[in-house]
Amino acid sequence: MGTDRYDEFSCPCTCGKGAFVVEHCEKDHPWRTATPVWHTARIDCPDCRTVYEIEQRGAPFVLVRLVDVQAHAMLREEARQARERLMAQPEVVAVVNELAEYLDKLPSMAETYRVLIAQRWYYSSLGTFRKGWSGGASWVRSSMRPDYLLQASHLTGLSTEAIEPLLAEYEAIHQRASVEPPAVGSPIYTVSQDG
Ligand SMILES: [Zn+2]
Repeated sequence: MGTDRYDEFSCPCTCGKGAFVVEHCEKDHPWRTATPVWHTARIDCPDCRTVYEIEQRGAPFVLVRLVDVQAHAMLREEARQARERLMAQPEVVAVVNELAEYLDKLPSMAETYRVLIAQRWYYSSLGTFRKGWSGGASWVRSSMRPDYLLQASHLTGLSTEAIEPLLAEYEAIHQRASVEPPAVGSPIYTVSQDG
């Protein structure tokens, strides 16, 4: 078993000495798979390859500058570290611990489920919840996120005064890291939605 591929699209690269290519790929067997057809892109030009990368954003393929891709990766890493710092702050740890205790003190698993659903912190069925639930401490360890912190403070009756500036600082970095590298010009190619 392998992959059949062919060049579905090709156009001259920016410098004109090579090409930007989008490949059509599919499994070379008839059995159903989650992604029977997909696309990849390549740059057939040693010069343009040092400057650009082709990214698929939904159906369109866009050209982005490698320096922008690298800057974006650095921002993502900064945001990751900022999140770790945030979640390790004593004020934040206090909220998280308080929430774990709060969840454990609820009278029943159904009530815990109801609270998590109401906060939009959980989306599956009560049955699934019952099978997976193993206490507040375990839940906050695996599921707690920065954007839950204010709600968690309100829920447990803690003041948000101490964590608000910490959150704002994290949000600013997170926002900048969420912006994708800018596309250069219009998309070079858009794949047809029916494969
Ligand atoms: Zn080129």
